[in-house]
Amino acid sequence: MDKKKIKVPTPKTRKTWKIKPVTRIKPSGKIYHRRRQKDQDQEMLQKISGGKTAVSVKGGAKLRFCPNCGGSLMHKQVDGKRRLVCSHCGFVFYQNPVPAVGMIIPQEQKIILVRRAEEPFQGDWCLPAGFLELDETPQECAVREAKEETGLDIRVRELFGVYPGRDDPRARVVLIIYLTEIVGGALQAGDDASDVALFGRDALPRHIAFASHRRAIAEYFEGEDD
Ligand SMILES: [Zn+2]
Repeated sequence: MDKKKIKVPTPKTRKTWKIKPVTRIKPSGKIYHRRRQKDQDQEMLQKISGGKTAVSVKGGAKLRFCPNCGGSLMHKQVDGKRRLVCSHCGFVFYQNPVPAVGMIIPQEQKIILVRRAEEPFQGDWCLPAGFLELDETPQECAVREAKEETGLDIRVRELFGVYPGRDDPRARVVLIIYLTEIVGGALQAGDDASDVALFGRDALPRHIAFASHRRAIAEYFEGEDD
């Protein structure tokens, strides 16, 4: 084939390359539009934060400046992993999973699930759960989150399990799940839960958010057989 016969049109967005979505033109003449990764990340952040708060991007790939001195961050191999390192002061931006706490709150062979009012997985059900605050113990977090999301006062009975969370777009998570019991309050959805209800093992909702929650729920009901 004569290559000269292939006509490559000039992209109209070429002149404003830096602010328009990137346009790729293949030798075939087909035009491919691609949204910039930065815009996609921004959209995701807007979506999951409701435009209210800034949250860290999974993997932190879009961090550009050193939180220590404001210098530029660059990728470097440190301790056998590719990490963001400050080009000015040498600060290494170590990225670690975020601890979260979830609760199994049983009642008459059923457990309490909450329906997510916010992204991610808005409208799906999950265990009452939330991120650990800086100034609280995991047990305190369980009590607080249960009250906020379900209206119930609970008591932590025992550690049920610890699960890796890889499917939350906000962060890599380590989910600590406690087996709890109700000591007071009244069941009422609150905070970032739009609904709260009891579910038995044979009538679980179709859409349960987060693999770690699905696994813990399955393990709980399997344990009920013993
Ligand atoms: Zn620095």
